[in-house]
Parts: sequence; structure tokens; C-alpha cells
Amino acid sequence: MSETAARTNVTETQSAKIYAVVPAAGVGTRMGASQPKQYLSVLGKTVMEHTLEKLLSEQRIEKIVVALSKEDQYWKSLNVFNNSRIDVTEGGKERADSVHNGLNFLASVCQPNDWVLVHDVARPCLPLNDLGKLIDQLQDDSVGGILAIPVSDTIKQVDGDSISDTVDRSRLWHALTPQMFRFDVLRQALEKGVGVFDITDEASAVEFAGFKPRVVEGDRCNIKITRPDDLALAEYYLSRT
Ligand code: C5P
Repeated sequence: MSETAARTNVTETQSAKIYAVVPAAGVGTRMGASQPKQYLSVLGKTVMEHTLEKLLSEQRIEKIVVALSKEDQYWKSLNVFNNSRIDVTEGGKERADSVHNGLNFLASVCQPNDWVLVHDVARPCLPLNDLGKLIDQLQDDSVGGILAIPVSDTIKQVDGDSISDTVDRSRLWHALTPQMFRFDVLRQALEKGVGVFDITDEASAVEFAGFKPRVVEGDRCNIKITRPDDLALAEYYLSRT
């Protein structure tokens, strides 16, 4: 769908429903743990439970589809297993494949203009305020956008072990999740981008398809648990909420 076509449909958006897809089929090798990182415990609950409880507490989200690995052995032991607002589907080889499977699962219930929020399972510290703000600020948009934070460090381009450039940071932002897009825009964008370039977030596929997603400034506490030290940081942020 072109940006113009998407914009002509914007008047239909009033009744658009909101769904969520949670890619959770990764193994998290950088954590070096014996279980996938989403099943590690923080403050007495798994990372996955924290993340899903955050999404469940936003009542405007109708349904959450979790993409799990074929080899997943832990899902059925979680307290959110059997929640009527959660469905599961099988993940794929890459993150974008897992998200695409989630969208295919939703295809029978989603209208083209409905919203899909994609949120990494490894981001349990998402502030509820940010989730609400993302929905509030984008709900009249024809395409969608993402939570993001402006870069505060000086950024270097490095070749080998030497600096080749200092990059102008004034227009640089870190992309976070959730990323919120119209169902049709996102599905078509992923179908266009898969196999063509490495899709590390939904916005990059939507940009590749010719759209200009918006940014909504989020909080720095919305970290993605990636390395062992991140668990202690997540524990700190979660203990404040
Ligand atoms: O590994 P990384 O932290 O970049 O993964 C981001 C998210 O994508 C995680 O929520 C992970 O579980 C998910 N993922 C997935 N399917 C894959 C690879 C990663 O759902 N094949």
C-alpha cells in the first residue's frame, strides 16, 4: 500500500482495534545462560511474565500473539499460560520471521487498518505511561511509529580499532519497542523486506517500503535484556514501578 493510499484510509481509523505481537522465539546467546533469556527470573517472575503483564494491563489491546520457538519447553509453566487474551504461534528463523508469523496468525481477525504493536519479549521494563503515550499519539496516524530515545553519547565510526569519523548525533535516535503500525502496512512491508536486507526492527521494513514512521520519545529504562549485567538493571527498574 502506498503512503497516499494509506492516508486516504485514515478516516476509517476511528474504530481500529489494537493487537500485539511479541517475538519470543530467540535463544539469547549473548546472555550465556542455560535457558533462553525470556525465561530468566527477575524479582520472582520470568522476564516473559513481566513483559506480558505490562501489555495485558493496557486494556485497549484486544489480543496478544506470542511467537515461541518450536523447541520451547517453558511456556506452559508460566502464570500467563491460558490467559484468554493471549494466543501463541510458532516463531521463525529470524526475528522478522517470528513477527511475520504473528501477523499471519492475526490475519483472520485483523482489518487492514487495525493496529499491531510489536514488542520484544526481552523488554520487561516498558513503562505503562510510554505504552499509553505511543497509542495516544499515533492512533490518528495512517502509518504508525515507534518508541525511541535521542542519542546522548558522542558516536564514533570505527574501522578495525581506529576512529574514522565522528557522526553528527543531533538527528540520531535509539529505536525501542513497542513499534506500532497499521496491520496492512506492516505485513506488506515485511513481505517486501524479508530476504532483501537484515530487518532488525519493524520500522526499517516500513521505511524500506517507502513510508516515514513517526518517533515518540520514550524512557531510557525500557532496556532490552541482552547481556548478564542487564538483569540487575532490569531488577532495579522493575523495583521502582
Ligand atoms: O536477540 P535479540 O534480543 O535481538 O531478539 C529480539 C527479540 O526477537 C527477542 O524478543 C527474541 O526472542 C525475538 N526473536 C524471535 N525469533 C527469532 C529471533 C529473535 O522471536 N528467530
